[in-house]
Amino acid sequence: MNLIDTPIEYLKGVGPTRATLLQRELGIFTFGDLLLCFPNRYVDRSHISTIATIDTTCSMVVLRGQIHNVQTIGNGRSMHLSAQLTDGTGTLELVWFKGLKWVKDSIKPSTEYTVMGKPTLFNGHVNIAHPELEPINYNTLQPDNFIAVYPSTEKLKAANITSKSIAKLVRQLFVQLGNDIPETIPPAVVTLYHLPTRAEALTLIHNPRVATDITNATARMKFEELFFMQLDYLYGKKQRELRTGGRIFAKVGEKFNTFYHQHLPFELTGAQKRVVKEIRNDMKSGHQMNRLLQGDVGSGKTLVALLCMLLAIDNGCQTCLMAPTEILAKQHHSTICRMLGDMGLNIALLTGSTRTTDKKKIKTALREGEIDILIGTHALLEDNVQFADLGLVVIDEQHRFGVEQRSKLWVKNSLPPHVLVMTATPIPRTLAMTVYGDLDCSVIDELPPGRRPIKTIHSTEAGRLRVISFLRSEIAKGRQVYVVYPLIDESETLDLNNLDEGYDSITRDFPMPQYQTAILHGRMSAEAKEYEMERFKSGIANIMVSTTVIEVGVDVPNATVMVIENAERFGLSQLHQLRGRVGRGGEQSYCILMTKEKLSSTGRERINTMVNSTDGFRIAEADLKLRGPGDLQGKQQSGLLQLKLADIVNDEPMVRAARDIVQQLLDRDPQLQSPELALMKRHVEQHKTHVDWGKIS
Ligand code: ADP
Ligand code: MG
Repeated sequence: MNLIDTPIEYLKGVGPTRATLLQRELGIFTFGDLLLCFPNRYVDRSHISTIATIDTTCSMVVLRGQIHNVQTIGNGRSMHLSAQLTDGTGTLELVWFKGLKWVKDSIKPSTEYTVMGKPTLFNGHVNIAHPELEPINYNTLQPDNFIAVYPSTEKLKAANITSKSIAKLVRQLFVQLGNDIPETIPPAVVTLYHLPTRAEALTLIHNPRVATDITNATARMKFEELFFMQLDYLYGKKQRELRTGGRIFAKVGEKFNTFYHQHLPFELTGAQKRVVKEIRNDMKSGHQMNRLLQGDVGSGKTLVALLCMLLAIDNGCQTCLMAPTEILAKQHHSTICRMLGDMGLNIALLTGSTRTTDKKKIKTALREGEIDILIGTHALLEDNVQFADLGLVVIDEQHRFGVEQRSKLWVKNSLPPHVLVMTATPIPRTLAMTVYGDLDCSVIDELPPGRRPIKTIHSTEAGRLRVISFLRSEIAKGRQVYVVYPLIDESETLDLNNLDEGYDSITRDFPMPQYQTAILHGRMSAEAKEYEMERFKSGIANIMVSTTVIEVGVDVPNATVMVIENAERFGLSQLHQLRGRVGRGGEQSYCILMTKEKLSSTGRERINTMVNSTDGFRIAEADLKLRGPGDLQGKQQSGLLQLKLADIVNDEPMVRAARDIVQQLLDRDPQLQSPELALMKRHVEQHKTHVDWGKIS
């Protein structure tokens, strides 16, 4: 056992009671954990503020001055200690509510103090409660200008474990550890990239002398986090590639060629061609493909998927395409049936509302190998949906599917099928390298020619009449309009225009029989949904009032206006998805974002981003920056929670560097057998229990 694995209670000054608190409150169980209890921030003691210039917007301030008029005020529970700090520019009150006698006795008159604390407003005056005091002794040098401020919690404070006490424990820790802080990153990497050693970095991060110490030490510790995060992903991925074979689709056959040369109504874009090639290479490599296909709305992913499915079929197996909603599944089914026309392929649709007798037939045909392409929803995941020989699984709009659900598809064949996951929510590169770290990635970064960028307009209630007359003029030109509301559930107490009210007001402004309005929301029956969708698709209805059920994939090229009510309530990616429902035909399309008059600053920024950009990747980056990685999906499984210092948004270059380095090492030595990589080997062996979730993507 290493010294740093010693239980924390054996640190001098800790003991069993404090140990329990440190464990519970900060997750510190061992010496090593305390080393990784990084300061939240540092106070630069060389940066002295003056009383005249501080206010309550300052966070921690450092002041220098003399302390007078130390007196106990009040009695009983309201008793507290008050003192005046004077620094030549002004006077400020210091207060204490605890340890009054001790503080009072320790303050010396005519002595200059360094005083640190957070200014707060009390009874109209700025004061500092429970400041940290340190008498200035000009005879001894003060080498460390930076004071580390450690995290704390209410319970720790109550037990009198302050930032200062943690700093003290850390000092003691370094005394007990001496030089015994082992390196974790292979020495060759440390040397090659000029990283400080782990011991150096940890010493400096807790006890920096100059500002660059903080930067360098923090960078090394961030790198370490990212290095092991990438190692987890990439090692797992590598092992999977070596372990599980993949079916080999060697030939480009008749179906593919017939479709490509005779049925395809347009030329593929360069990006589509490139991506088809990437996928093809995967599918003939002998390894199972796990590929994420990203492409902005309308970039033609479905077509790419279809080509790949034909490739698979030409190589003698079945394929399936899974969509997140019934509407989408149906739409894919009809598009694909139409595109493949009379090519003699057997295409089936299986959703929750497929009739039982039909379901039975489909399942039998599937087992017999008669169905070439099965399209559907979650229904495909049921255990009794069995294929004769499933070779390729395509999952559309993957973020709607949970990891667990996807794993069910995986086991539908003895040799695992190739998996292509498509998403229209562009994933910022930094996420592609982390949350989706063990998928290969293809990007369609080009739209089919002739698309006109959608014009996005922001309007408030005051502009509603103008919006309505604009909609009338578009409808008069024969175009169709979506109006989307954020509300799905009436029981929500938010003061939103709910869908019903919205529908009523639309039908007042656009009365029958001149206008027809369809309505769509998640709680309608499948038949009702289909009926309404059909009314809109066929052009009978001019307006579709809907919740976000139409967010993904719905394709009605004649629709040219998307009105989003309460747009401030939507996330950026969702707004972008919704906007992607228009601009699918040749006509100029519009997206109108309706919001209330007053917006929060992030609300305003979101709206501005939408108005100024149609680039899904830019929007996704902005979204990530605005939200922070805090509420990312898949975060639990993704290892993001293990990151204490690194931040995948702001440290993207470092994420990339760590990934490249790990990848190179693994390419050279996939099993990490060489002695130089022993530290990495040890890490992956210790992390074997880590969920193998990449396998189930
Ligand atoms: P996505 O699923 O990526 O949002 P789709 O596959 O639904 O996009 O394609 C959007 C529209 O663009 C469809 O109507 C499709 O037929 C058309 N399309 C796809 N690829 C091309 C291309 N290379 N040239 C012209 N139109 C294309
Ligand atoms: Mg699509």
